[in-house]
Amino acid sequence: MFNSLTERLSSTFKNLRGKGRLTEADIDATAREIRRALLDADVAVPAVRQFIKQVKERALGEEVSEALNPAQQVVKIVQSELEEILGGETRTLQLAKTPPTVIMLVGLQGAGKTTLAGKLSKHLKQEGHAPMLVAADLQRPNAVKQLQVNGERAGVHVFAPHPGVSSEHEDPTGDPVEVAKAGLEEAKNRQHDVVIIDTAGRLGVDQELMQQASDIRAATNPDEVLFVIDAMIGQDAVATAQAFNEGVGFTGVVLSKMDGDARGGAALSVKYITGKPIMYASTGEGLGDFEVFHPDRMASRILD
Ligand code: GDP
Repeated sequence: MFNSLTERLSSTFKNLRGKGRLTEADIDATAREIRRALLDADVAVPAVRQFIKQVKERALGEEVSEALNPAQQVVKIVQSELEEILGGETRTLQLAKTPPTVIMLVGLQGAGKTTLAGKLSKHLKQEGHAPMLVAADLQRPNAVKQLQVNGERAGVHVFAPHPGVSSEHEDPTGDPVEVAKAGLEEAKNRQHDVVIIDTAGRLGVDQELMQQASDIRAATNPDEVLFVIDAMIGQDAVATAQAFNEGVGFTGVVLSKMDGDARGGAALSVKYITGKPIMYASTGEGLGDFEVFHPDRMASRILD
């Protein structure tokens, strides 16, 4: 992830090395190179525009620090703007005043929701919580079973419409809203303090999917709705994120498949496009391939 962006930025900075003072023309040329590198990395155009505007303004206006040479100053500005576009502060989970905290997962099919449900529950368990999973994805064959397997691996209880029944016999007519509500009741009875509800995705955004997710949201009143997005989807990320933001609404973003060789555009655009913070990153198929998302660390990694 970000490999080619990292290389491009580093060669841009290399061109500035040895310069005594940066002229406006130097800054313009640098901004152009950064702009091209970001566009090639699939970063959304409005996000690129804002990024470049900020970098130029600061590079032209910044007090000249004695301690840093011009190249280092530009790196510092780019680092801080990257951090900003990735969300600035690390955003932690909003816990309910009265447990259980309800977390609902939304996103396209294949985005990585079911996998994330297992990872997040494991992470929360390690943090001292007693999470429970609810299988409200009744659309995809095998989704319930997959969540049960993930829950078992994480050592976390799973509420499923027909526990133990094999995927061939899942009830396709089951109502996911009722399942979500029943799951919430069970969590209260069993005194779990966090409930993670896995919901159905479609291959493309559609009205029925949005309505179902909205109905589950209305019925369970979640403290967090996390939009899981595959970091590999490039420029499509913008339209998908906007559709979910308008259709269901979400409070935070999870980037999945950050271990892939995606160019990173989705990661660098989604906060700017939706205004919602990136909270977690999924970095592989294993239960432990999961990170709390820290914008500052990610910015440093991009510039490394
Ligand atoms: P869902 O339809 O949104 O529930 O998506 P799944 O959780 O079933 O994930 C779809 C596929 O992507 C599965 O084969 C997962 O193993 C894989 N997957 C999920 N997250 C990651 C990740 O972070 N990295 C990689 N490499 N694969 C992932």
